[in-house]
Amino acid sequence: MAEKDEIIKKLLNGDMKLHEIDKHTESVIEALDIRREFVERFANTSMEHVSKYSLDMEEAMKRNIENPIGTIQIPLGVAGPLKILGEHADGEFYVPLATSEGALIASINRGCSTIKASGGATVRIVGDKMTRAPVIKAESVTHAVEIKKWIESNFSELKKAAEVTTRHGRLVKIDPIVVVGKYVYPRFVFTTGDSMGMNMVTIATEAALNLLTHKTGAHIIALSGNFCVDKKPSALNLIEGRGKTLVAEVKIPREIVEKKLKTTPEAVVEVNTAKNLIGSAIAGSMGFNAQYANIIGAVFLATGQDEAHIVEGSLGITTAEAVDGDLYFSVTLPDVPVATIGGGTRLETARECLEIMDAHGSGKVGKFSEILAGAVLAGELSLMGALAAGHLARAHKELGRG
Ligand code: NAP
Repeated sequence: MAEKDEIIKKLLNGDMKLHEIDKHTESVIEALDIRREFVERFANTSMEHVSKYSLDMEEAMKRNIENPIGTIQIPLGVAGPLKILGEHADGEFYVPLATSEGALIASINRGCSTIKASGGATVRIVGDKMTRAPVIKAESVTHAVEIKKWIESNFSELKKAAEVTTRHGRLVKIDPIVVVGKYVYPRFVFTTGDSMGMNMVTIATEAALNLLTHKTGAHIIALSGNFCVDKKPSALNLIEGRGKTLVAEVKIPREIVEKKLKTTPEAVVEVNTAKNLIGSAIAGSMGFNAQYANIIGAVFLATGQDEAHIVEGSLGITTAEAVDGDLYFSVTLPDVPVATIGGGTRLETARECLEIMDAHGSGKVGKFSEILAGAVLAGELSLMGALAAGHLARAHKELGRG
């Protein structure tokens, strides 16, 4: 006890750093408790709920967190059954969603029920890559072009150097290679198996760059030159794709649109054109959709994905078409970095949530990706249905008044 008070006193006086507590305690859990108590005293508050958890924080401290003081809790719900007709996922699934946004899961659930009544969502993975694009400084534009050409002519050497560092990562291409003045931006494109791959491709790219530096005299300014593009919205990712590129579609018979969504195919099509396409275009938005980030965010938090990648998952285009009186509806998500191994998927709650879908571990990332795209389709469909129903209701009311 005396020792604990002594440590907290030192922390309050600035004589000890937060990460040094562990050196003075028998276990990292004891250090965690002292760190939290220090913060409580510093902020004159109490963290009764942050202090209660069942995660193995000793394990988490090895790869997932520094200066831990506890955990947070987010309400977790499920939507489903969601019927997926995919290449990796084929069947009905319950999708875990962590959120504090009331009505979100109810809305996704309505989408799932509409999709099921229509025979299921067809989902395909149309692209699979993880990228790292360093920025290199040459001595002149001539040298910059030489470096670009050297990369293009020596791809197999660079590939060999990169792949020495990983069992599952494969360098697929280095493209595009952009030259701006003396700066060169080569985009290294990998496949990364069941991991999201940021760690993997960072390590592999660094190994390839060692060879490049040695052979060309290139000077590496930064391992990431923001041309990756990681954790930021970008037109490059929208066009080229990053993480998994996913497409999900469903054809909904007219009577089901009317019964489940209380609207018509034509009304959904008009809302989609006016809102998701034209509205997004005039805003200069890269998300030609209503709410991908809501579903991506809630599933990412539940399943231990990197939450900063929600911004990438928010990109994409929704299409809607009236076909023979029925509704064709699709979502296209070009940039969804996901994993079923590594990163936060190790955490016990994330593992349990992935296991609800039988999507934890090796060989499962395709299945998880397809279910995720189906969940986005369900959420998007339901919201667009609600907007269209409101638009119809308003139109009826106005007509009634007229
Ligand atoms: P990771 O856990 O660092 O790497 C995945 C590991 O799993 C690799 O060691 C890989 O071995 C192994 N593995 C085993 N079975 C596998 C399989 N079936 N498929 C793929 N790999 C398999 O995870 P990561 O995905 O590369 O990195 C994710 C974490 O790094 C995230 O938490 C992320 O936030 C963080 N991070 C992010 C950035 C960023 O800038 N966004 C940068 C660095 C790190 P082999 O490599 O030998 O195949």
